[in-house]
Amino acid sequence: MNLIDEYIISFNGLDTGEYNFDFKVRDEFFSYFEKSEILGGNFDVDVILIKNSNSLELDIHLVGDVRIPCDRCLDEVTEEIDFEDKIIVEFGDETNFDTNTDYVTLERGKQEINISQFIYEFAHFALPLSRMHKDDEHGHSTCNPKMLQILEDLKPKENKDPDIRWAKLQEIKNNNNFN
Ligand SMILES: [Zn+2]
Repeated sequence: MNLIDEYIISFNGLDTGEYNFDFKVRDEFFSYFEKSEILGGNFDVDVILIKNSNSLELDIHLVGDVRIPCDRCLDEVTEEIDFEDKIIVEFGDETNFDTNTDYVTLERGKQEINISQFIYEFAHFALPLSRMHKDDEHGHSTCNPKMLQILEDLKPKENKDPDIRWAKLQEIKNNNNFN
């Protein structure tokens, strides 16, 4: 069985109404998607399926954590996610899961839907803008120290000419009336 086949919801024979489904996502899930920014994860997915006469609504809620590369040191960093959104499934001539909108199309007559792509996309939507190792209680970065040193070494060096530096210091001193 294909890994993502675990994420198929069958609505065959269901009356109109509301149904609950639970799924778990583990590290292997993300290896299925080539372009995944997320390296791995461990989270629960709660789905409420609302079956209407001509459409389906999927409320998908992700809670847990994912591992992604740190923006600063590139080592893995774990981020908690808690994200909920919905997908409206309408029926048409062919299946189209382009999720730039909340609407997707499932080929008419299909009795099941694989929600792995929605889980994958929602997990990425759930990521914080800044993904970095947190500072410790002393305010020190917990990033990979070797990487921090390399970054430090790559910083553009200040002008080392002592006269210019002295002039700048003098200027700062004058502006702040330290005397
Ligand atoms: Zn880091």
